[in-house]
Amino acid sequence: MIRKLIRRVFELPAGKRRARPKVLPLAQHGIHRDRLSHAALKVVTRLQEAGFEAYVVGGAVRDLLLDVDPKDFDVATNATPEEVHHLFRRSRIIGRRFRIVHVMVGPETIEVTTFRGGEVDDTSATGRIMADNTYGSQEEDAHRRDFTVNALFYDPSAETVIDYLHGVRDLHARKLVMIGQPARRYQEDPVRMLRAVRLAAKLGFEIDEHTRKPIRAHAHLLKNEPPARLFDEMLKLLTSGKAYACLAMLRQEGLSRGILPLLDAVMGEEGSDRFLQLALERTDARIRQDKPISVGFLLATLLWHQVVQAQQKYLDQGEKPMPALFQAMADVENAQDNEFAIPRRFSVTMREIWTLQPRFESRVGQRPYRFVEQPRFRAAYDFFLLRAEAGEVPQALAHWWGAFETADEAEREALIEQAKSEGEGPAAPARKRRRRRSNNRKNRPEADGTPS
Ligand code: ATP
Ligand code: MG
Repeated sequence: MIRKLIRRVFELPAGKRRARPKVLPLAQHGIHRDRLSHAALKVVTRLQEAGFEAYVVGGAVRDLLLDVDPKDFDVATNATPEEVHHLFRRSRIIGRRFRIVHVMVGPETIEVTTFRGGEVDDTSATGRIMADNTYGSQEEDAHRRDFTVNALFYDPSAETVIDYLHGVRDLHARKLVMIGQPARRYQEDPVRMLRAVRLAAKLGFEIDEHTRKPIRAHAHLLKNEPPARLFDEMLKLLTSGKAYACLAMLRQEGLSRGILPLLDAVMGEEGSDRFLQLALERTDARIRQDKPISVGFLLATLLWHQVVQAQQKYLDQGEKPMPALFQAMADVENAQDNEFAIPRRFSVTMREIWTLQPRFESRVGQRPYRFVEQPRFRAAYDFFLLRAEAGEVPQALAHWWGAFETADEAEREALIEQAKSEGEGPAAPARKRRRRRSNNRKNRPEADGTPS
């Protein structure tokens, strides 16, 4: 009964909502304006000075209340995109279905959105939002956001937090609550399901029962989303610092299969892939320590077991190791619908890392010298270390390369002798054969070249 009533209030036609928000003073929330970035403060102040309403909104307010450093700052205003663009010389209007303004201040970019309101412009037969460029009031804007904790506004000039939808209460209860009717909100935009999982894992929140329940039944809608948007969301998920927890939760909510090939690849049988687990834990640790991560490297780890399996198939058919590897890589990439799903700037690195793996097997002659000089040696070696840790290749071999990389000339010679004594690369007579091979190198794709 009460829920029905609440729902009716939420679904009042736009323009009729007139709830008075809770306005929390500094003493209650503790966020000083100097917690904002220079750019965020500047953008809000300039808009307010020009007579517009402007607030920091969304994830940044949520994170500040949780005493987490926000990744970026978004600003909401009643100025139209054109008016915003007019106020800031270094700005541009982007997006078509959802127009926003990017304002550049120093090295920072602030995303400025105009309050959304009224009816959604355009929905498809399934209720999917196709365009949303109707502007409204601050209150209406709050209702258009996804979760109550993401619908908080912060006004730096008054140092107040403005809360229309019990966001602060839910934040303290550490709960993600979808605004409005969850099922309908997922139909409008299926990516909200992935956002629920990502934010819950990242913040250590629980997804409210009513918000969680419809996810399973709506998971299939994600299939129709543009691959590029799904890839972006996947990337956010994998770089949230809680990737492993996110993937476990996706599996639990029935969001893992048949949505995105990349996700399928990562979602092998539970617990079966030690390598993947290590890779994700390593990435999570680096992100939490604020260290940079390479997306190409991450993707290389996610898809590696598929590559290994495909390569084995070709080896079984009598193919030689390198051609088998190249064919396997091509198969795996095609299955990812690469053109759309994995941007080229990442797939190049991914391929290089894979292609260099066989070179860790030859430790005699000039090859190790050339290999450690390779610009990609570090990335390939980090990858090889993971394989060693996962028990896929001998630990001793990984140690050998680590030692070789940092050794001086005499030590390197000794290491090569050691490799020979371990039975690798025969001594004198083979030297000729090696030389012959390296003469031919120019005409053949080598392990260190990019695949032709
Ligand atoms: P993060 O910490 O990952 O940046 P965020 O909540 O800030 O999380 P953004 O993608 O930066 O996520 O979005 C900023 C704000 O825009 C959100 O807090 C939310 O209010 C709103 N928002 C983003 N995506 C959606 C969506 N799909 N539907 C409704 N509102 C959304
Ligand atoms: Mg954000």
